[in-house]
Amino acid sequence: MSAPDHALKAVRDRIESACREAGRDPDSVRLLAVSKTRDSDEIRALHTRGQTAFGENYVPELVAKHDTLEAPPAPLGLEWHFIGALQGNKTRAVAERATWVHTIDRERIARRLSAQRPAGMPPLQVCLQVNISTEPQKAGVAPAEAAALAAAVHDLPGLVLRGLMAIPAAAESPQRQREPFARLRALRDHLNARGHTLDTLSMGMSGDLEAAILEGATVVRIGTALFGPRP
Ligand SMILES: *Cc1c(COP(=O)(O)O)cnc(C)c1O
Repeated sequence: MSAPDHALKAVRDRIESACREAGRDPDSVRLLAVSKTRDSDEIRALHTRGQTAFGENYVPELVAKHDTLEAPPAPLGLEWHFIGALQGNKTRAVAERATWVHTIDRERIARRLSAQRPAGMPPLQVCLQVNISTEPQKAGVAPAEAAALAAAVHDLPGLVLRGLMAIPAAAESPQRQREPFARLRALRDHLNARGHTLDTLSMGMSGDLEAAILEGATVVRIGTALFGPRP
């Protein structure tokens, strides 16, 4: 097996066995291939093997790879997920290219993305990024402020609020690693009890995807385990 075949199979196997342990259908967890720092050919190699959703953290990389791979006459039609920090002056490039944005943590950015979403495209699918362990200096809305942000985002015509995303700090054991993921799920349930219909929990990376799946992840964002260590 080639390296991409091997890596994809290994990650899919991990997802499947975590789903088995959790009593979940493996089709309920989507694999988002995090292609930051990787080039367009590496994305193509995974796409050839059936991978369609790719995550980018840096706006210039999203622009370069999207515009290469989606150029006529043979656009790949990938799902582009933006999962990085977003500044106000970079929202237009994302609104014009992304299918999803996982990192909405303030209303101003959400308003700009909604206003800049081109009329001919379907609404942008979004998650609120939550600072689930309330760590200082970390991106994400505070859990106590998530309901207000969710209400504001819900009203924006260019966006569809799909769920919550978090990047918890590494814990000292797999068991402890489940705690922040469980809190994110509880917050999603709380918002749904208040009238939202959030179906997405974007949580789990190469090192902790099992803990995230056991707590209900519906999207795992995997870089290193698919592409190898980043340069
Ligand atoms: C880089 C990154 C990932 C992937 O991390 P790995 O540990 O390489 O799997 C997932 N989510 C976000 C937001 C990232 O920045």
